[in-house]
Amino acid sequence: MENVIIIGSGCAGWTAALYTARANLKPLLITGEQPGGLLTTTSSVENFPGFPEGVDGYELMTRMQQQAERFGTRIKLGSLVQAVDFSKRPFVLTVDGERLETQTVIIATGASHRHLGLESEDLLEKKGVTYCATCDGALPMFRNQPLVVVGGGDSACEEATFLTRFASVVYLIHRRDSLRASKIMADRTIAHPKIKMIWDSAITEIMDVKQEKVTGVKVKNLKTNAEQVLDCAGVFIAIGHVPSTQVFKPFIKTDENGYILRTEGAATNVSGVFVAGDCSDHVYRQAITAAGMGCAAAIEVERFLAAENA
Ligand code: NAP
Repeated sequence: MENVIIIGSGCAGWTAALYTARANLKPLLITGEQPGGLLTTTSSVENFPGFPEGVDGYELMTRMQQQAERFGTRIKLGSLVQAVDFSKRPFVLTVDGERLETQTVIIATGASHRHLGLESEDLLEKKGVTYCATCDGALPMFRNQPLVVVGGGDSACEEATFLTRFASVVYLIHRRDSLRASKIMADRTIAHPKIKMIWDSAITEIMDVKQEKVTGVKVKNLKTNAEQVLDCAGVFIAIGHVPSTQVFKPFIKTDENGYILRTEGAATNVSGVFVAGDCSDHVYRQAITAAGMGCAAAIEVERFLAAENA
């Protein structure tokens, strides 16, 4: 029987592990399929305090893991939670077919990339369709080619700007006529000589499924319904994220977008199940806020168990 199982290995998960380990709770952390979470796919994190020169996302997550391990965190690497039973305590988690029992849980499963929802998008994923410019932008298949980025937030602007290093031209396709991104990022993106804005538009199909590679996109102007084809070798989709909370839904209350609702502090509607990070935060979604929420959840677990054993 575990004292606490932490699900997820982003900033929230590792910080919760660090704090619960230092409280002598001997936490077990289940990393999920992408150890280190989305931040491991970021090249340079420039806004995490304590790193004035910036820090590589993968390095930051590795350091957090090492710090949590130093105080006794145990890790199930690459494991996925297939099912949970939060109907009574001890809680039961099914992980890689194994049954685990625990007194408390911290959910820190983060969020994953939102998809456009096109069939051609799924069929051409990793064949020119990608969700991470910093991971894939430098691939030979994208060099000196026209590339497409979809989205209007900071991520899309960042990806488009990054891709100008490799592309002949970057088309930034956005469904409205103004960017959601911060002003400084938006201005820089629009002014970039290698970025061409395609406003008020949506991709209706990514070509060419038959050739099993990206050769272009069909784009529809949402105001005029006019259609055009843009030749390109890659489509980089940066339209936000969806929280990874599906497996908890039978027991844990979420909002209409799937973000876990907190009742008070880090608590959920199930007593003994706590939450931290992007799976519960659609407002800030920053590495540092996720880490802070991981700390709060750990302290609440410690107090919860102490109150029971008093
Ligand atoms: P976001 O701010 O939620 O923006 C998502 C964008 O995708 C929006 O422009 C949205 O359009 C569009 N979109 C959503 N669903 C779509 C769909 N089905 N089809 C087409 N377009 C769709 O997400 P984000 O850019 O990933 O940023 C997330 C958070 O991280 C933000 O708080 C951001 O500031 C932060 N961030 C910061 C940095 C930085 O400071 N360096 C870098 C990246 C991200 P609408 O505008 O019409 O809704």
